[in-house]
Amino acid sequence: MGDEKPKFLIKGGKRLDGRKPEDVRPIQIKMGVVPNADGSAEVIFGKTRVIATVYGPRELHPRHQVINERARVRVRYDMMTFSVEDRKRPGPGRRETEISKVLAEALTRVVITEKYPTRAIDVFVTVVQADASTRVAGLNAASLALADAGIPMRDLVVSLSFGKSYDEKGQGHMVVDLEKEEDNWGMGDIAYAVAPALGEVLLLQMDGDVTLEEFKKGKTMADKAALEIYEMQKRALKARYEEGSK
Ligand code: ADP
Repeated sequence: MGDEKPKFLIKGGKRLDGRKPEDVRPIQIKMGVVPNADGSAEVIFGKTRVIATVYGPRELHPRHQVINERARVRVRYDMMTFSVEDRKRPGPGRRETEISKVLAEALTRVVITEKYPTRAIDVFVTVVQADASTRVAGLNAASLALADAGIPMRDLVVSLSFGKSYDEKGQGHMVVDLEKEEDNWGMGDIAYAVAPALGEVLLLQMDGDVTLEEFKKGKTMADKAALEIYEMQKRALKARYEEGSK
């Protein structure tokens, strides 16, 4: 599946899975899915499923990584061998190392790290099933898992992908929340994250060929979708809090 280039990714204004360009896939958020962790969340974007767990703040080893003034947020992003159609080679490669780094940088911006000098906050982002946009789904899950762990934050992180798909005439159109075929065959893909209340962009990575005008159009679409995801996150956290206080 997805090995042959499709004739179009968008036709008559509809994408391969029937979505309109501005639609995200069905999203589900499940809080506290790993009770032994200090905080956890599962985020599902269509067929992409990611679980994030948080441990800490806790003592940091190895000691040379200690930061005297603040906590260090460490992230390990990993894809399970069974998460993709062909078995994924186990263990972190270059891709996983890069993703772990950019996710840690995004989360460090929102966690109030000064509250926990010298400590470690460890975040594990595990892709259980991959159908593109796993790093952005993982970032939503990580932010929710941090909140679930009771770690003070300046804002939540809302993250999604957007990109450029071609229609039956070869014309490009901006779309949000790319699935696998759009990611594989599209003309450009962008991983994006914002802290909506702070108005800060926390992640921006782009592959492919997108003009400035197209980028701006895609970003406007993504910002609109981000607000919907933000509301879903807040609802999920509130429900978790109410359940916990019973
Ligand atoms: P993201 O998952 O954040 O979009 P990429 O653009 O690197 O990151 O990957 C896009 C998609 O390609 C993944 O979500 C997954 O569906 C697929 N993919 C990535 N790495 C592998 C791999 N090693 N084997 C099979 N499929 C992969």
